[in-house]
Amino acid sequence: MREHTLTIPAPDRWGEGIVSVPQGKELDLDVRLESVHEGILVSGDLDTEYEGVCGRCLRDIAQPVEVEFQELFEYPGEETADFEVQDDHVDLETLVRDAVVLSLPFQPVCQPDCPGLDPATGERLTESAGTPQQVPVDPRWAALRGLTDQNGLAAGAAPDTEES
Ligand SMILES: [Zn+2]
Repeated sequence: MREHTLTIPAPDRWGEGIVSVPQGKELDLDVRLESVHEGILVSGDLDTEYEGVCGRCLRDIAQPVEVEFQELFEYPGEETADFEVQDDHVDLETLVRDAVVLSLPFQPVCQPDCPGLDPATGERLTESAGTPQQVPVDPRWAALRGLTDQNGLAAGAAPDTEES
């Protein structure tokens, strides 16, 4: 069994979403290689950081990523395995990249309760804004509001009963 601790730059941008591990980002790897009957069992963990923007307020964010991985690299045989030992080496890039990409959040946020953007103005909301939101009137109901304003009467005072 062999153990390795490596720090290498990410060879590529990992991730296609609004957050990703950028090319050149430092990857801290602890890798354990065990010789087993069928090949080499590779296990380990990786620490790095993803960068991107908050999915709600578009603020720049960077968060740590930690993933674990394990895979059997088989000695070349009659059947082609997903992962094989090649020339006494194991190539971990695909294995590690997939583990990292799968761990990236689909909807990253700068903080769990990020209030996001104001739907009307597009401005970034802050949690300190204690004033209640002016809820925009659904255009389908706008005509009804006009009726209320015209009559200006309290409920029950309306003389017409044609609805009943
Ligand atoms: Zn946010």
